[in-house]
Amino acid sequence: MSYKLFIPGPIAVSAKTMAALTSAPIGHRSPDFVALYQSIQPDLQKLFVTSDPVYLSTSSAWGIMEGALNNVCTKKVLNCMNGAFSDKWNDVAIRNGLEATALQFDWGQPVDPEAVRAELARGGYDAITLIHNETSTGTMTDLAAVMAVVREFPEVISIVDTVSSFSAVSIPKDELGIDIMITGSQKALALPPGLALCAVSERARERAATVPNRGYYFDLLEFHKNHEKGMTPSTPNIPHIYALRSKLEDIMTEGMETRFARHARLNAKVRETIFAQGFELFPALENGSLSLNCFANTRNIDLPALNKMLKNEHHLVIDGGYGKLKGKAFRISNMGDETDETIAEMLDAVVATMAKTPILSV
Ligand SMILES: *Cc1c(COP(=O)(O)O)cnc(C)c1O
Repeated sequence: MSYKLFIPGPIAVSAKTMAALTSAPIGHRSPDFVALYQSIQPDLQKLFVTSDPVYLSTSSAWGIMEGALNNVCTKKVLNCMNGAFSDKWNDVAIRNGLEATALQFDWGQPVDPEAVRAELARGGYDAITLIHNETSTGTMTDLAAVMAVVREFPEVISIVDTVSSFSAVSIPKDELGIDIMITGSQKALALPPGLALCAVSERARERAATVPNRGYYFDLLEFHKNHEKGMTPSTPNIPHIYALRSKLEDIMTEGMETRFARHARLNAKVRETIFAQGFELFPALENGSLSLNCFANTRNIDLPALNKMLKNEHHLVIDGGYGKLKGKAFRISNMGDETDETIAEMLDAVVATMAKTPILSV
């Protein structure tokens, strides 16, 4: 039995994408591969709103998130933390032996630009990590405000995770001054997990050239050298690249602005419906994500029971809270290919099932 995923990644994959995944493999040093690789660059650059190259990494997003740190940080990294994924980035920096400072905000709070300025002004930093859309709490940070501050510190290379917001909302990389912008395949792009994408500025490559121990698999200069020939450093997951090409066709056919508007509309529809059930958003309304909603379990319903019924009776799955929010919050994704109809259908099932979900005693 298969279930339709409304968790915030991985999400449902369309039949068209599944068909593209089964394209026969080609040699990764062949002219056919070069043609495939080069054919998708223009659309990727449109989506990243950048003139920088977009590299394809056969890994999940964390591969590049970890690798980017080792490419550009030699002094000290400032990690902006406001949820499970951004908290982990600090841990990853420490595990790599980097000097790291944790700039912590409460879960559900966005990253505060003034706090970033105050900390960077203390000096000694040459990199910063930041997550645009903290998926664990459904909180979006005002990237324009934070990046305006980061740009005041030219020695600081910015590494920005847009894993769960990329292609759902507009994130103009070059205009914002982001050095390394990273995303993954299984979130808003609605591909299966296993591919990461990143656009890298010349500034970041210049920094990498001064860093001796960048490793091999995630060496950004290796990516660049191969990119110039229309290739990747090692054998990539070619089926994913076919699927990505298919997805880019979908996105450009729909139109980027139409796509962003669709996500905003579906996100608002989910909010409105779940608010009417007596729940509130976990973050403050103005900080709520546009690619998913994280609701506080204000009515204290039995979330595992709700999900069990949704799965058995409606073949769909929502999320019952991530990390320390397990049972205390639930998340519903509106990423990918969802439409007014599919979201309405899901919401009908959720509302009907909520009516018979037990309330937990405190
Ligand atoms: C899902 C997610 C990740 C982790 O991605 P992997 O593909 O598991 O490496 C990182 N950051 C954010 C914001 C995410 O939503």
